[in-house]
Amino acid sequence: MPQGVVAVIGSLNADVIVSAKRLPQQGETVVGHRYEIAPGGKGANQALAAARAGVATRIVGAVGRDEYARVALANLEAASVDLSGVQQTEDLTGIAQISVDDAGENTIVVVAGANGCVNLEQAISAVRELGGADIVLLQMEVPAGLNLSVLQTARSVGAISVFNTAPYTDNVPELAPLADIIICNEKEFALLSDAAMLSGKPETRARALACMNRQTVIVTLGRGGAFVATADSFAAVSSPAVEAIDTVGAGDTFCGYLAAGLASGRSVGESARIACAAAAVACTRRGAQAGIPEMNVIASTLK
Ligand code: ADP
Repeated sequence: MPQGVVAVIGSLNADVIVSAKRLPQQGETVVGHRYEIAPGGKGANQALAAARAGVATRIVGAVGRDEYARVALANLEAASVDLSGVQQTEDLTGIAQISVDDAGENTIVVVAGANGCVNLEQAISAVRELGGADIVLLQMEVPAGLNLSVLQTARSVGAISVFNTAPYTDNVPELAPLADIIICNEKEFALLSDAAMLSGKPETRARALACMNRQTVIVTLGRGGAFVATADSFAAVSSPAVEAIDTVGAGDTFCGYLAAGLASGRSVGESARIACAAAAVACTRRGAQAGIPEMNVIASTLK
């Protein structure tokens, strides 16, 4: 099978996670009992998933000249992701400040920092190097204008673009039509199909969207797996039943594995089946990046 590369254009963050019995009210200070600083960012998580799936992966993004940059890059480096497209900027490394209470409820403040100034020329020249067997994978944690140029360039060089609509913003409806494949969760899909003024059952809406944009629409359904729709086909993909303890990073695992499957020459349906299996395993482990499995771990669940 032809082996392509996965090129992720996306965010790199440090997640600062504090745990307390309960979350503070406005103006209040509470004493926490644990904290952790872990690598995150949708771009980084998805690049790591593609690399752990065994495919050559590179990421274009930006970090600051601070200690959090080392945190953001550590796992990617260990997984041999090509980091030559990661710029160091004067802005600070992006962070997500996550507060979690003992019931698992959380509040999150994300500051884009360096992710807001990913170099456009660098991203475009990285995409221009790609060919027809290669995959460009994008999410919405870098500027929408950058994603627009990347999607247009991917189309012009014939690389396959995979656009994850998370986190959903008002720019998603104008970007989504430019991608060959979109991946949404149920909420994002509802927003996107509303914006496209589609109604009816999810299958009807997904096929209409796929037809309108001449693309493949993948919707992830939590424990329900995912479905894959094109203008003239619809397939449900189940996720293995697992005891989920932490679903953070499940969507990113799905996206990275999906892109890796395509880069390995697999069909969208087969790639989605593997992506569901990998995302299900991620739900049984704690941590966004720590939970992403290696390909050999999930191979047994695929037989
Ligand atoms: P997101 O986390 O981005 O909102 P989903 O909740 O749809 O996305 O989850 C992404 C994928 O993770 C699903 O397609 C599925 O394969 C897997 N997944 C999520 N929750 C579970 C679960 N409880 N059991 C098994 N697999 C799950």
